[in-house]
Amino acid sequence: MPATQLSTDFHKTMKLDNVNTSLQEEIKLECGVDIELCMECGKCSGGCSNAHIFDFTPRKVVQLVKIGDEETLLKMDALSTCVSCHLCVDRCPSQIDIPRIIDYLREKAHKQGIEPTRKNVQLFNKLMLDYVQKNGRVAETHLMVRFNFKTGQYFKDAEMGRKMFFKGKLKPFPSKVKRIEQVRLLFRDVPARREG
Ligand code: SF4
Ligand code: SF4
Repeated sequence: MPATQLSTDFHKTMKLDNVNTSLQEEIKLECGVDIELCMECGKCSGGCSNAHIFDFTPRKVVQLVKIGDEETLLKMDALSTCVSCHLCVDRCPSQIDIPRIIDYLREKAHKQGIEPTRKNVQLFNKLMLDYVQKNGRVAETHLMVRFNFKTGQYFKDAEMGRKMFFKGKLKPFPSKVKRIEQVRLLFRDVPARREG
């Protein structure tokens, strides 16, 4: 399915026969998220900042975990379009951490060599994390220039960047945090990320 095409599966009734609870148990163990507490109220989907471009809304993601449809979950476009804003968690009466689930599934898909539906999102994440690992913070100007060059969109957002620069919103040179070694400790056990 093309990344920009919304899935019609979203509107279909889910098959509840052959339910497999192993993924639900795995997520409880690995992420500490208990989706048994989900009341299927849909508040997460109502509050999601990106639901309009999701193939499966947050509530649907929880349902897919409940029925153990791992194949669909690992290939869904929502792995690329969730921006971890946590609005769904704030809305949820049971505080179910859906972005944590999505993050876990993203890692799992990556380990299994499943290609993300939107490679530019993966590339952007990689470049951003490289800056955080190196400097402890993101250098927006450098990040955008590198991203534009790597994706061949040389003048994308150039006009907006120029305006932001003259308003003092963008720094020309990256700065480092003082105790950078503390930040780098966060990356210590992370396996090498693939090039996007
Ligand atoms: S808001 Fe929470 S309880 Fe309601 S459907 Fe979403 S995950 Fe389930
Ligand atoms: S964290 Fe992801 S799923 Fe939750 S509201 Fe934000 S974009 Fe939607």
